[in-house]
Amino acid sequence: MIQEFQHEDIHCVKVTVSFSGININVHLYFVDGLLIDTGPSRAKKNLIPIFQSLPISQIVLTHHHEDHTGMSSWIADHLNKPIYIHETGVSDCQQPSNIPFYRRVFWGNNTPFQPEPIPQIIETENHNFEVIHTPGHAHDHIVLFNKEKGWLFGGDLFVVSRPKSMFSFESVPVMVKSIRKVFDYDFSTLYCSHAGVLVNGKEHLASKLQYLEDIQGQVKKLHQKGMNAKEIQKELFPKIHAMQILSGFENSPLHMVNSILNNVENA
Ligand SMILES: [Zn+2]
Repeated sequence: MIQEFQHEDIHCVKVTVSFSGININVHLYFVDGLLIDTGPSRAKKNLIPIFQSLPISQIVLTHHHEDHTGMSSWIADHLNKPIYIHETGVSDCQQPSNIPFYRRVFWGNNTPFQPEPIPQIIETENHNFEVIHTPGHAHDHIVLFNKEKGWLFGGDLFVVSRPKSMFSFESVPVMVKSIRKVFDYDFSTLYCSHAGVLVNGKEHLASKLQYLEDIQGQVKKLHQKGMNAKEIQKELFPKIHAMQILSGFENSPLHMVNSILNNVENA
């Protein structure tokens, strides 16, 4: 399912993907010739006419995950416009992706394509966007900041304020660092890839930061009392969520706990 709507100067495309009773929304944003993310290939039939109708002159990918980049190879083949991603994500896009079965079923297959390393500043006809590297959810994650309008295109930096489960490639302490970094910029509206348009974006990100720092503190405290990662998980996250089951427990609160403990040991 696809919905299109306008917010300020931004054309928003909301893609809803469903699988065994779980619905996930992904948003693509288009402003002044710039397309931010290309959406999952499972929505191919709905997305192609939209891409054909928009005057796209360049594409920025917030990170290499398949729900954000799935249509990039189609765009590369049909539009001949530059596609940018953070330099550390270029090789992820060039290779056939090795994603687990359930993610392939949910989002569709990713075909390799050749992006270019993103410059520090993305310029469109009327706007400038500063590129901020914000790892934690993905090593190549970036957000785009426009000073004049106070826009922040946040990719997956926010998503939810109280995440209860993560993938092994994610890290709570790295996320905390990235959110703190973004607070140095004076943004107001947060264009989130999953949660959509959040007019009080700073408050949303502040509540996530607070939550993650609380978790960090609690994990460290329980670790000092002698509890191991598994015991800490049971104490802080006793419930099992649908996403954990769907992913065969590849998505788990244990990864949140481990990312914090590994950081303590490395500190
Ligand atoms: Zn992602």
